[in-house]
Amino acid sequence: MIRIKEGKEKNLLRHHPWVFSGAIEESSVPGEAGIQKVLTSDGRFIAWGYYDRESHIQLRLLSWDEDNCPDENWWRDTVRASVLRRRAFFEDKQSGTTAFRIIHGEADMLPGIAADVYGKIIRIIISARIAWNMRSVVLGAIEDLLHPQMIILNTDSSFCAIEHLHEVTEYYRNGERFTPSEKLEEIRIRESGLYYGLVPGSGQKSGFYCDQRENRIALERYVKGACVLDGCSYTGGFTLHALRAGAASVRAVDSSSDAIHRLLSNVNLNIELGTLPPDSREKVEAQKGDIFDVLRTMPQNKYDVIVLDPPKLAQTIKVLDNAKKAYKDLNRMAMEKIRPNGIILTCSCSGALSREDFRTVLAWSAKDAGVEVQVLETLGQAQDHPIRLSFPESEYLKAYVLRIIKP
Ligand code: SAH
Repeated sequence: MIRIKEGKEKNLLRHHPWVFSGAIEESSVPGEAGIQKVLTSDGRFIAWGYYDRESHIQLRLLSWDEDNCPDENWWRDTVRASVLRRRAFFEDKQSGTTAFRIIHGEADMLPGIAADVYGKIIRIIISARIAWNMRSVVLGAIEDLLHPQMIILNTDSSFCAIEHLHEVTEYYRNGERFTPSEKLEEIRIRESGLYYGLVPGSGQKSGFYCDQRENRIALERYVKGACVLDGCSYTGGFTLHALRAGAASVRAVDSSSDAIHRLLSNVNLNIELGTLPPDSREKVEAQKGDIFDVLRTMPQNKYDVIVLDPPKLAQTIKVLDNAKKAYKDLNRMAMEKIRPNGIILTCSCSGALSREDFRTVLAWSAKDAGVEVQVLETLGQAQDHPIRLSFPESEYLKAYVLRIIKP
């Protein structure tokens, strides 16, 4: 039984799932890791939580129902419920999307677990000790429900140090762990009718950023006949959509040469399959580069549309000020260089930077660039990456479609 210090219980009663060590009454700190009843200082039930002093979040709340202690059945049921909430994705044969998220961590009440479907393969990424401890139950539940060809499970390297986990990758087939004898073959996924090749288990995030699905569709509304710059293109999500919607040209820039290589093969793949016009390859110029340098050195008025999708520039709250400056510079340069009345689709995937702060940063950029900016669309993360209202941290992807008006 753990007691929460007086005054620290409010957010927890509103179902915020994280409790840091400073909120726990010292006399009630348990000797070992495990499930505990969590109470207010005057003894009222708040929730069932998992305590583990080795985790950077020592207490994680799981169930606010006193009659529903999170045992193995709770984990199985919660995984199942999360997968079933994505039923529409499994049943939607028409839009042809085969890559989507089935578990989105705390937003699906499952701390430290992200699970993505890539066709017949599932990738699970673990970022908390509790999820690591429960992995066999999670794997079993997914196996029983979906019978995937293979499950790849790994720990998230950016959390291993703070969660005291090892960096590991495990492969499962029919519920049994195995060691692949050779390199995994490339698979093909489809999103909104376009195809992407990827090697499961390699590449960034879990191989493909399906949280941008709706935003790629949004881009299609602005690019007909346009010269487009896809900044931080990765394997071409936005580029392929711009080509499909009739862009005159697309220049893609990414700091990873593997990503650029993959982008070009994705363009070719879609031409071959008839999902992009045959002249698409000639319209694309893809290069390894630093988007900050590219924007700094390029001439004015070259592009009608610029997409800015940088990696997480604010990893933590501590580096937020530096990150804000980077977001500001990036957007300022794009605003300065874009043609009058041009469109910028700008994104921030830093959870530490709130939506409001991101807008403030964009206003600074506009002021320094000497332009007026209209917000045409306010965008976020795709619906398979839900935001849980009681857990604001689950809103991490913010995006805006901006029109840049020059004096
Ligand atoms: N827009 C992509 C996802 C971008 S993820 C999509 O739709 O799939 C962020 C990308 O930024 C990564 O591919 C990373 O390699 C790249 N990147 C990181 N720093 C960069 C920099 N300074 N300049 C250009 N690209 C960068």
